[in-house]
Amino acid sequence: MTVCGRFAPTPSGRIHLGNILCAMLSWLSVRSKNGRYLLRIEDLDAMRCPRSLADLIEDDLKWFGIDWDDGGSAGGDPWYQSCRTAIYDRYFDVLKDKGLLYPCFCSRAELHTAQAPHRSDGTYIYAGTCRNLTPEQIAEKSKRRPPAWRVRVPEREMSFTDGCQGVYTENLAHDCGDFIIRRSDGVYGYQLAVVVDDGLMGVTEVVRGSDLLNSTPRQMYLYEQLGFAIPQFYHMPLLTAPDGRRLSKRDGDLDLGVLREKFGRPELIVGMLAKAAGLRPTAQPVQLSDLVADFSWDKIPKQDIALPEEILQ
Ligand SMILES: [Zn+2]
Repeated sequence: MTVCGRFAPTPSGRIHLGNILCAMLSWLSVRSKNGRYLLRIEDLDAMRCPRSLADLIEDDLKWFGIDWDDGGSAGGDPWYQSCRTAIYDRYFDVLKDKGLLYPCFCSRAELHTAQAPHRSDGTYIYAGTCRNLTPEQIAEKSKRRPPAWRVRVPEREMSFTDGCQGVYTENLAHDCGDFIIRRSDGVYGYQLAVVVDDGLMGVTEVVRGSDLLNSTPRQMYLYEQLGFAIPQFYHMPLLTAPDGRRLSKRDGDLDLGVLREKFGRPELIVGMLAKAAGLRPTAQPVQLSDLVADFSWDKIPKQDIALPEEILQ
């Protein structure tokens, strides 16, 4: 079977160095296996994600040396999550027909005050307030506000071997809890959209930041319930600022717009990232395509990576 990977950016800002490292590793992983590479735009929150920003991301990726076989603006609407609502509706109904979904009427304030335990990442585990409402209660509450929808998870251990982080195990009920799949404003959650898209697009490997490691058991449960094959996951280390903080879009001085102007040539940035990620012994300038032949996940560290000093100078 041909390997198929993808990059799936959210165009709510210019791409930053952490995103480009993710694109770089996912592209190298696929190209080193002669696989297919896709570009999908994750603009579920369409108001915050204008097409103009998605176009800028494409331009940044091409400049960096990343190409794709399908998707992006050339592929048109099917590659933008904001245009895929009818598809998500269909799979939402599959889960609903299986009795796996229920409406949740809890307000944000109620969720915060509920005595719910917290996950290690600080998010709460749903206490199950709306899990067993009667049809009468649902009808009554529906008059006041539209519900969000949650997936009912079983008491079950989910385990997988991550290509970068090794074995990861979570008990769905204890460590995760029933999770939101559609918000009360009708916008689908990331968990459903990403599983449906990767499933339908034939994606066989998913590379993303280690901050998403603990959403994987939930997604595996959805893959199973929707009848899709579960891809191989690689949760890569994140880039950290000199003070140890993980990089985010707030670090505007590290977005590709600024870096392109500062360094001029992509080979300089590729070289620095290749050294930081363990792919090269030095930060010598190099073209991205020259890293394909020697690429191996064995070289990539599990722990977060400190920002290359050269970038900050
Ligand atoms: Zn609720």
